[in-house]
Parts: sequence; structure tokens; C-alpha cells
Amino acid sequence: LSQGTFSPGRHGAASVPRKLVVHAEVAVIGAGAGGVAAATALAEAGRRVALFEEGRHWAPKDFRPDTTFAFRHLYQARGARSSRGNMVMPLPGGRGVGGSTLINSAICFRCPDPILDHWRDGLGCSTLERDRFGRYFDRIWQTLGVTVQSLDIQRLNNIVFRDGAEKLGLKAEFLPRSAPGCAGCGVCQYGCPTGGKSSVDRTFLVEALATGNVGVYADCRMTTAITEGDRIIAVEGELLDPETQEPIGTVRVEADAFVLSGGPIGSPLFLLSNRLADDTHCGAHLVVHPTTSGMARFPFEIRPWHGVTQGCYVDLWERGYLLQTYTVTPDQYFALLPTMMGEETMSYMKDLRFMGSAGALIHDEDSEGRVQVTPVGPDISYFLGEGDRQRLVEGLRKVGEVFFAAGALEFLPARLGGGVVRTVGEIEAALPLDMPAHHLVTYASHPMGTCRMGATSESSVVDPHGRVWGWKNLVVADASVFPTSLGVNPQVTTMAMGLMIGETLAGGLG
Ligand SMILES: Cc1cc2nc3c(=O)[nH]c(=O)nc-3n(C[C@H](O)[C@H](O)[C@H](O)COP(=O)(O)OP(=O)(O)OC[C@H]3O[C@@H](n4cnc5c(N)ncnc54)[C@H](O)[C@@H]3O)c2cc1C
Repeated sequence: LSQGTFSPGRHGAASVPRKLVVHAEVAVIGAGAGGVAAATALAEAGRRVALFEEGRHWAPKDFRPDTTFAFRHLYQARGARSSRGNMVMPLPGGRGVGGSTLINSAICFRCPDPILDHWRDGLGCSTLERDRFGRYFDRIWQTLGVTVQSLDIQRLNNIVFRDGAEKLGLKAEFLPRSAPGCAGCGVCQYGCPTGGKSSVDRTFLVEALATGNVGVYADCRMTTAITEGDRIIAVEGELLDPETQEPIGTVRVEADAFVLSGGPIGSPLFLLSNRLADDTHCGAHLVVHPTTSGMARFPFEIRPWHGVTQGCYVDLWERGYLLQTYTVTPDQYFALLPTMMGEETMSYMKDLRFMGSAGALIHDEDSEGRVQVTPVGPDISYFLGEGDRQRLVEGLRKVGEVFFAAGALEFLPARLGGGVVRTVGEIEAALPLDMPAHHLVTYASHPMGTCRMGATSESSVVDPHGRVWGWKNLVVADASVFPTSLGVNPQVTTMAMGLMIGETLAGGLG
């Protein structure tokens, strides 16, 4: 590659000059669910697209089932990203060509109709038509090969949880997943080692590259927007050493239009640090689907590290939450035993093969989160609201009830200062509805809403086409444009937003 060229195909630090200059019709920043979908729509419409990603290219053979390796290479902030507030919550996100889809559990939900209708009719996002999104969801289902895994791949953690829920008369189902080749090894969060998962780098991006219109530049962290009037004329950044993640060169892209797809933490940070939006709405309204969880000891072997990572769910959407199973590796399990010390912890470690695991994910309604730029770096805050806190406790209680219905001997809710629950009758006392937020052990991997879409610049960061208010040629296409929390796992809705925003931008370029 020489300076100033556009070259289709996959590139990285090893194959580009240390002073990389690229010219394209459209530059996309961030190669996750939203960015790759937008790039695909643009490329299919004949636009020349340069896609920049701070992480590297991955192939299944390069992943290792090792937490330290995965955190170091595949996670934002090396796995240490978290929010402060009335509790401290890990907030993991992916890094690499494929973004968070590299490490996600592949669960697929279409955006629920009531949510899409509310965004369109209640909040003025006129482009979010049911028919149009229905077409995107069909395309996504097909491109990702969404399917439900068979019983032999699900394995016991998922099967036992489904059986327990059915005994209680709850609606329990195996989850549709973007993992048509899933082998049930239970390590989606480390990158799929068999290639069975359809992360966007292995699906949409392959289709986009086949057009000959896309160049993907890995190892490029884009930081600085160069503006002229109400247009962005270039974006500059650093070329990174993929091992150390230290800068080894510079990058500059000049384009007619720019798509920001750094995800709901990266995109508002880019806009705020470049003063492309003020902080009235940009970075505000962070919602995350807070999750809490529990383990249960059974009189028979479950082997919770085996099977589909997250295979079964119980639909309690009307009450504001879903229950979902998850697999645990021994080191993750150890980290989930915060209430015990010494001998007791070791007894549960010894019995890991008898443990089942599941959690509750809530639709955040009254919590307040924000992403900010500060002199010492990014600041992420999230204050769990009263209603959301109660829904988390209710969801966690329900997880315990399902486990006992399935035949569990004990339930270990992930709460600080709590003990072991030995009967279903003890659940309420162990998990009082007024327990403080910081007693819950929480986790969230679905940030959304920090560049929200809306009808006016007074109420939002981007217009119904994804265009940043005040800028002619800058759109945002990722989960940050969701106007509110979604209530179901967000990758499919993010891809649909990417397709819609990319398609519209392609049509508007002239
Ligand atoms: C552990 C985990 C499990 C999950 N499980 C599921 C699931 O089962 N089902 C589901 O629906 N959802 C799941 N999700 C959520 C889902 O993957 C995300 O909602 C979705 O990927 C968001 O897409 P995005 O485009 O907004 O951001 P991402 O996919 O996170 O992509 C953003 C990309 O931008 C890059 N980037 C950021 N800033 C810059 C910059 N300045 N320059 C260059 N590159 C930059 C990042 O490195 C990253 O690769 C999970 C997420 C995680 C972390």
C-alpha cells in the first residue's frame, strides 16, 4: 500500500505504511455490529468504504480459552471497563474487527414491536418503520444463519433451567442464536474457537468485502476530526502495535462522509472530545440492561462450563426482565463467590460440576447513566434507579425459584453479605426488596443510548437518519443511537440500525 490510496481487502499494522493516508467515499470508524452493517449497506450500494478498527483481525485458530488472553486482546480496557455510581458494575465491550460480536453469546432477538413503535411514534424517529425493520431483521437472520441449537449441544445447564421454569408454568425457550456451527464448548466470551459463531467479521463483512468496495484497516485508533464549516473533511488517529497496543504510526482518512460506530462508550467520547456535540444529550441517557445472577447446587452433575453459553431464557418481558442461563469457567466461578472465605469457598469450587447458573437481565427504566470526558480520561457512571433495583431483586428471586423447581438443593444468589439459600421459602428473606443496590453483584454488557436518535436537536444527538445534528456528513451507526433501553439482547437491533443508516447515507451522497 502506498500513501493516499484506497485498497479493498483486509489490512493491519503489518501491511500498511507507518504514515497511512487513505481516501474513500465513506470512512467508518469502529468495526462492530453497527459499523460492519453500515459498511455492508454502503458497499452494496456501490460506495467505496474504508473501515477503521482499533483492535485487530481475528481468526478462530487465534482465540484461546483463557480469560487473561481474552481480556488483554479482545476486551475494551483489557477487561477492566466498569461504571461507578450507587454500585460498581463491570461493563465489558469487545475490541477487534467484529467488535463485541467477537465475544458475545450470539443471542438474537428482533426489536420488540412496542419498543420500535414507541421510538417511532412516541419519540419522533420517523424512519423506524416496522416493515423496513422487518426486512432488515430477515436479512440479518439469513446472513447470520440464526438457529436454535439441538439438545445435545445445549447440555444440562440449559435443559435443567428450562425444565424448572416449565414446572412453574413459565414460558421458557431455547434461544435463537447466530451460531449455526455451535459445538457447545461454552466459551463464546473468549472468541469462538471453532468458527461456529457468526460474528460480523465472518458474515456481513465477508459479504461486504465480496463487493470489492471495502478496505478494512485494523490496528487504527481514530481520535481527531478535522472540520471545515459544517463538514468533517478528515479523521486522524494512531496506528497501533497489535501486541502492545502502543502507537507506532499515524493514520489519516479523507472522505465525503463519515460513519461513527465506536459503540455506546466510544462514539460519545469521540463526539465530545472533538466538540462535535455538547454534553446535553451526548454521553447522557446511558442504559445497559443491568444483570445479576445466581448459582445452584444440584444432586446430580450439571457441568456448567459445558454447552451453549447462553442457551435458555424465560420470557418475563412484561414484568421488565428476562431470565437467561450462562456458562461459567472455573476462574469466573471463583470470582462469583464473593460472600464466602476459605474452606467454604473451596467446598463450592470442589463442587462446581454440580452447579447450575442463570441470571436476570432487566429493561432499565429509571436508572441514570452517563459517559463523560474528564482531564484524567473517560468516566462512566450509572446510578441504579429504585424501580430497576426492585426488578433486579425480583428477577433474582425468580432465578432461585426456577432452580428449586428444577430440583436444586441450594441457591447462591450473587449478593454481598448474603448466604446460601436452602429452601424456596427462604428466598424472599435472603433477597429483600429494599436491599441496597451495592449489595447486588451486577454486570452489564449491553450499553446503549448515549447518542440517542430523536426528532429535534433539543431532544437528541442524531436525527432519524442517524445524522449528528449540526454536521452535514457525519452519522452515528451503533447501539448508542437507541432512544431508550431495548429490553432484549441488542446485537440484531444494532445491525438493523447500521443497515438503515448505511443505506440512507449511500442514497444521500449524490
Ligand atoms: C460479553 C458480551 C456478551 C454479549 N452477548 C450478546 C448476545 O448474546 N446477544 C446480543 O444481542 N448482544 C450481546 N452483546 C451485546 C452486543 O454484542 C452489542 O450490543 C453490539 O455488538 C453493539 O454493537 P456496536 O456496533 O454498538 O459496538 P461494538 O460491537 O462494541 O463495536 C464497537 C467497535 O468500535 C471500536 N472502536 C471504538 N472506538 C474506536 C476508535 N476511536 N477508533 C477505532 N475503533 C474504535 C471498538 O474497538 C469496537 O470493535 C454482548 C456484549 C458483550 C460484551
